[in-house]
Amino acid sequence: MALNSPWRAEFPGLLALEAEGQTYLDSAATAQKPQVVLDALLAYLAGGVANVHRAQHLPGERATRAFEATRSKAAQWLNALGSDEIVFTRGSTESLNLLAYGLEHLLQPGGQIVISAAEHHANLLPWQQLAKRRGLELVVLPLDAAGGIDLGEAARLIGPRTRLLAVSQLSNVLGRWQPLTELLALAKAHSALTVIDGAQGAVHARPDMQALGCDFYVCSAHKLYGPDGVGLLYARGEALAKLQHWQFGGEMLQDADYHDARFRPAPLGFEAGTPAVSAVIALGAALDWLNGLDQAAVAAHEAALHGELLAGLQARAGVRLLGEPQLALACFQVEGVHNADLAHLLSEQGIAVRTGHHCAMPLMKRLGLAGATRVSLGLYNDGADLQRFFVALDKALELLR
Ligand code: PLP
Repeated sequence: MALNSPWRAEFPGLLALEAEGQTYLDSAATAQKPQVVLDALLAYLAGGVANVHRAQHLPGERATRAFEATRSKAAQWLNALGSDEIVFTRGSTESLNLLAYGLEHLLQPGGQIVISAAEHHANLLPWQQLAKRRGLELVVLPLDAAGGIDLGEAARLIGPRTRLLAVSQLSNVLGRWQPLTELLALAKAHSALTVIDGAQGAVHARPDMQALGCDFYVCSAHKLYGPDGVGLLYARGEALAKLQHWQFGGEMLQDADYHDARFRPAPLGFEAGTPAVSAVIALGAALDWLNGLDQAAVAAHEAALHGELLAGLQARAGVRLLGEPQLALACFQVEGVHNADLAHLLSEQGIAVRTGHHCAMPLMKRLGLAGATRVSLGLYNDGADLQRFFVALDKALELLR
C-alpha cells in the first residue's frame, strides 16, 4: 500500500532530511515543524521583539497580547475551563518538577506516591526525589504483558495512604494507552491528587481536561509539531490554588521587600523570569494548525502506518516487540543482536530511529533488557519511510547474524 501522507509537504525540515538521505522515524523524541510554525516564529522575531508583562510600549503590548493569545488557545485545545488554568513551562519535565515542588507541602511522611512501572524518567525522578525528601513511600504499579497498567494490582495498591497518583497517558516505550478513567477513579476514591503525563498522549488524541477530570496534565510543544523550549501545565482551578510557588524572580510577584515578598497567583506566579516568548507565540500557530487538521484522517493514516510497522516487524524472525503497542511507535529487540550494533548500521544507512533505554531505565531493567530500538511515527511519515527502514533493517541483520 502506498500510504502517502497528505501533510508531508508542509514540513520543510522533513523534506530537508529526506534530501540528505535521512529517513526520520524518531517523532516520539521530537517532531518536525510545519511551515506555519516556522512562519510564526520568524514573523515575531523579525517583527521586533519585546518582553512580556513588563512594558507599556507598543512592542511590549503586542508581544504580551500574542503570548496571552496562546494561553487562551491552549485552554481551548485542552478543553480547560479557563486560560488561568494554563501555566507555560519549558516542557513536560519542568512541569512535573514544578508539581513535585509545588505540592511538596501537602505530602506528609508515611503517605504514598503512586506511579507506574512504565514511566519516563520525567515522571519518575521528580516523585522519587520528593518521596525521599519527605519520607513518603513510592509505589510502582506493575504492568500486564501487553504493557498496560494492571488494574487488578492498581486496585490493590492504591489505598487510603495514597496521596498522589502520577501516570503517563501513553507510554513512550510500550505505545499503549493507559486505563486512565479507572485509575483516576481509584485515586479519587481516596482523595489523592492526580497527575497525568500527556507528553506522548497529547500528540495522538486531543486531550479533554473536563472529560478526563485529572488535577494536573502536562505536555510538551516540541512533540506536538511546535517549537522546543515550551510546555503546558494544566491545573484544575482548585488544584492550582494548592500549589506552592517554586521558582522566584522577575514578574511573578505582587510586592517585594529585601526580607519578604508576596507572589502572584497562577498562572503568572509560576512563570518566573523571561519566558520563551517566541516559542509560546509559535505554539499558538501549532495549536491553530492542529485544530485545522481532519482528526479522523490523521488517526486513520497513523493507524494504517502503525499496522504496517507492526506487521513488518512481526514478519521478521528473531524480532521481539516490547509489549503490544497500540499506536504511534514500536520498540523491539533482536535475538542475538546488540542494540548498539543495530543502531550503528541503521544510522549508516540514513535511518533515524532511537536506540537505548528511552529515558525509562527502570522499565528496561524490569524487562531484563539493556536497551531497545524504537521506531516512532509522525503524521508526516508515509509507507515509503517504512519501506526504507525495513530494507535497512534486513541489510543490518544480514550483517549482524
Ligand atoms: N514523558 C514522556 C512519556 C515522554 O515521552 C517525554 C519525552 O520523551 C517526557 C515525559 C519528557 O518530555 P520533555 O523532554 O519534553 O520534557
